[in-house]
Amino acid sequence: MSVMTPPGVKTSGDYIEDVMSIVKAKNSAEPEFHQAVQEVFDSLRLVLQKHPEYRSSKILERITEPERVIMFRVPWFDDRGEIQVNRGFRIEMNSAIGPYKGGLRFHPSVNLGILKFLAFEQVFKNSLTTLPMGGGKGGSDFDPKGKSDNEVMRFCQSFMTELSRHIGPDTDVPAGDIGVGGREIGFMFGQYKRLRNEFTGVLTGKGLSWGGSLIRPEATGYGCVYFAEEMLRSRNDSFAGKLCLVSGSGNVSQYTVEKLLDLGAKPLTFSDSDGVVYDPDGINREKLAWVMELKNVRRGRIREYGEKFKKAIFMPTDIKLEHSPLWNIKADCAFPSATQNEIKAKDAANLINNGCNLVAEGANMPSTLEATKLFLDAKVLYGPAKAANAGGVATSGLEMAQNSARLSWTREEVDDRLHKIMIAIHKNCFETAEKYGTPGNLVNGANIGGFLKVANAMLDQGLV
Ligand code: NAP
Repeated sequence: MSVMTPPGVKTSGDYIEDVMSIVKAKNSAEPEFHQAVQEVFDSLRLVLQKHPEYRSSKILERITEPERVIMFRVPWFDDRGEIQVNRGFRIEMNSAIGPYKGGLRFHPSVNLGILKFLAFEQVFKNSLTTLPMGGGKGGSDFDPKGKSDNEVMRFCQSFMTELSRHIGPDTDVPAGDIGVGGREIGFMFGQYKRLRNEFTGVLTGKGLSWGGSLIRPEATGYGCVYFAEEMLRSRNDSFAGKLCLVSGSGNVSQYTVEKLLDLGAKPLTFSDSDGVVYDPDGINREKLAWVMELKNVRRGRIREYGEKFKKAIFMPTDIKLEHSPLWNIKADCAFPSATQNEIKAKDAANLINNGCNLVAEGANMPSTLEATKLFLDAKVLYGPAKAANAGGVATSGLEMAQNSARLSWTREEVDDRLHKIMIAIHKNCFETAEKYGTPGNLVNGANIGGFLKVANAMLDQGLV
């Protein structure tokens, strides 16, 4: 039943546009944050029509304003004894359903707007996981590439010296993201423990012998493929023999490729910021092991794959091109797993024209709003990031649970829980999309499903 709005009274659409204007005015020069908010708001029109209480309680104004933003100086000595200064951040976005939870990103492109978009997305993603976690995100414009282990350690120690004042196992629990893996989490955990004289689950992604969880490194990639498997199942299809494009070559990409191999698919690509490798023979387990050693131990560049495996083609990044050659390779499925806005409208059109009928987002917000619209209009199976890549934070939630209970679960137990969580997230998104009159639109399903739980908790807890 549609609700009639009397003349002169603002509709839910007007309310959304009013708040969007406020968000843009208050957060000028933060285009990624505007994009993330716009995408969620576009899904909420129907919800706001049915629930006037969200509007009268100004939930949209409140949910777009971080509870707390921390920005700080991170001074450190490089190996030549020179002083370096970076900027550190933590965005504590929303704690309505649990302690702030979300990764730390170390990359030269990091700024306040990028972290606010990531923290905003995290709120809805964490809500979808079925676990009690609020949303946060942080990081620094520090670039770990080309730095020695000692430089990375000195940076991490300085970064944690300030961050430690603001986090804690029941307050805010950071994890890894781009540029932050096991090495960085180790250095930060060591410094936190030294400063606070306590051994707690203050970070996730820890080493196995000091509180980490089995399957956490694999979780985002595995989870994304589990989610994609459910999308295919909804059309009575499976991964057997499917040609798959994967971008990036870091944590998410590596374990996406591993799980695709487990399920009988044929992954064809990896990339990094220097370019793309396309292997027409497919990336098998031996080649994947070689890439893991290249990226995680030698910290080398993906162009070396083209030198090592003779049939593979390396295509260097061309900044003059407004599209990536990776998304113009003929394949059935695409797994963007590098960074935000890596699929532009032209890339989406190329994928669709080449017959790709599944996109599952391992990276956060890898598709522009225009690209997303093209996928939805073409009825491509489209798994948005906040649902498809939620397996990483869900398994961080499982790491927190094991830390609280002072227990370690087996690999099978954690993987089984992750798999069940991804099936539950897909079911929630699928059914919510249907309930709100847009069957198959998992963007609406994820945004509405994630929003309702947080918004209702905010209503229950009063004006805080
Ligand atoms: P990672 O291990 O640091 O790998 C990132 C990969 O993406 C690298 O191959 C990197 O290439 C490439 N990349 C990063 N920024 C780029 C840019 N501006 N242009 C081109 N390539 C770029 O990071 P990750 O953990 O796999 O994260 C990848 C994505 O997944 C991010 O969007 C992250 O937010 C998202 N995500 C991660 C997790 C998790 O658990 N790790 C969970 C949910 C979502 P270079 O080495 O050349 O920079």
